[in-house]
Parts: sequence; structure tokens; C-alpha cells
Amino acid sequence: MRTRFETVSLPLDVPFEIARGTTETAENVVVEIEHGGETGYGAAAPARRYGETAATVEAVLPELLAEVEAVGDPHARRTIGARMATVARANPAAKAAVDIALWDLAGKLLSEPVYRLLGCSAGGNEPPTSFTIGLDETETMVERAREAVESGYPVLKLKLGTDRDVETVSAVRETAPDATIRVDANEAWAPKEAVGKCHELDEYDVEFVEQPVAADDPDGLGYVYERSPLPIAADESCRTAADVPAIADRCDIANLKLMKTGGLTPAVELIDAARAHGLAVMCGCMIETNVSIAAAANLLPLLDYADLDGSLLLESDPYTGVPVSSGRFDLRRVDRGTGARPP
Ligand SMILES: [Mg+2]
Repeated sequence: MRTRFETVSLPLDVPFEIARGTTETAENVVVEIEHGGETGYGAAAPARRYGETAATVEAVLPELLAEVEAVGDPHARRTIGARMATVARANPAAKAAVDIALWDLAGKLLSEPVYRLLGCSAGGNEPPTSFTIGLDETETMVERAREAVESGYPVLKLKLGTDRDVETVSAVRETAPDATIRVDANEAWAPKEAVGKCHELDEYDVEFVEQPVAADDPDGLGYVYERSPLPIAADESCRTAADVPAIADRCDIANLKLMKTGGLTPAVELIDAARAHGLAVMCGCMIETNVSIAAAANLLPLLDYADLDGSLLLESDPYTGVPVSSGRFDLRRVDRGTGARPP
């Protein structure tokens, strides 16, 4: 097996602001694993929130890829995953890049799309992705919402976390009366404040509220969940399957991301754990190239909600992925692997 990796800088269409800060260019690290005449592609989209940067990914990847080469079997994803866990305790985005590349490679070697290797069929009615509107002046958010709706996106996700939250949602609702609107506070609210906001936002037909309070405040999350008229999704509070029991009675929806779990293999574990605890499941993303978005799209048949617009927020993406139209990914057009293609 031959392995290599490369960091790619991905400028965003417009600077992306959330309650924690602003991103103008995303750095992803693309991993290639070659075996039997095929190449599998994976990518890391590191997030500072989870202790990673392109530099930490580049620093740990040689050790992770050494385990891939030592095992030498592209289908031994769980064996490789267990060995990666002994090499690096954290570094989930770096591990995700390796795991995704292995799934893509396995699909290519077996001439099957990854969703089929996951035991799923694709009917074309998988949940559509939301299009995310970052924090900005209310008029700017309304304008972006209008553009997104005109581009055919049926679901908008509004980033919140300011003293204009209700005003913003009200103005977007007026502009987009038929859109599904979900909101994400990215840990910005205090529990009592969050309950108040949920009651106010309930007037504007909001689908659900994501991560209202700090991830290290599970009691606060439970407090909001018990009092909110709107469903609650846990994102920062839900990194891996091991977090599911703690959020199970404190939210309605578990929001997984490949860059938090460490790839598709542990993402399936999280989905199974969430289902076992009666939670609905959503898959989100960071600002990501199609290499890893395509991998996440293969989970769509297992999901209730999708927020896989990472590549759609880029000015341009050198990689192509699963064909997407009006927010709907068409997995039936993936012939093998994840569906990601190099430039
Ligand atoms: Mg979120």
C-alpha cells in the first residue's frame, strides 16, 4: 500500500461567522491510499474547537498511515482503527481522513458505492441538506437566505448567538415563508436565556434548535430540553458514541460529524448508539471539501436530518463529490467508493 497526504487551502464564498469566530479560508488535508491499482481519497477538516489544525493533522498522519501500511489490508478498517487509537488518543479529523480513504478504496476495489457497503439502499428520498447562513447583519442574513431559497435549497440553517436572534429569524421567515428553518446557537446561550429564545423562536416555525448551551453543561442542556417547545439537537455535546448516554435524555437529535467521530466507521457506531437511545440522527460537517462530504453523504440513508453544505460554502472545490441539486444528494449516481473525484 502506498500513502500520501497534502494540505489544500479552500477559500470560502463569503466569510463564515458563528458564535465562536469567523473563517475565511478552510485548510483541509487530503489523504490518498493506493492499493491494487486503485486510490482511495479521504480528507481531514480540522476544527480548533476539537483541538485540531492542519498542522496537528500533518504532524500525526505519518504515524497513522504507518499503521495502515503495517496492517496492509484495505478492508481491515476496524483493525486499523484500533491501532490508530493506540497511536493517537484524540486527532479525530486526522483519523477520519484515513478511515474515509479506506472506505473509498474498499468501494473501488469491490466496485460498490460506500452506502451499499454500509448495508443501505438509495431511493432518492434521503433527507436534503440544509444551507447554512453564517452570523452577519440581519439584512445580510436575509439576503443570503433569499439567494439560497432562489437557488432551490428547501432547508436553511441560521447561525445564532447575538442579541438580534429573534429579529433575524423573524426577518428570514418573512423572506422565506415556505423554507424549513433550523437554528444553531453554537453553545452561545445560558440555559434560562435559551428557554426564552426557544419560546420566542417557536412563533416562526423553527424545525429545531441546535446546541443552545455549552457542551460542558449537560444539566443546562437537560434544563432547556425539558422546557423548550422546539426539538433540541446536540452537536458540540455529542462527539462520539461514548457521549450518547449523557445526552440521551437531554435532547431529541444527535448531530454527528465525521470530523468529531474520526470517520465513517465510528460514525456508524454513533448512529447505532443514538438509535438505541431513541434519538433522531443528523449528520453535519465542518467547512469541508467534497472528499469528506461525499463520504458523509453515503450515510444519508441512515439519517433523519442532513447538514452537509461544507463544500457548497466554498468559493470553489477542486474535488467533485456526490451530485447535489436543490440540496438533495443523488447517491444513485455514485458507482463505486464515496463518489469523490480528484481534480
Ligand atoms: Mg452545530
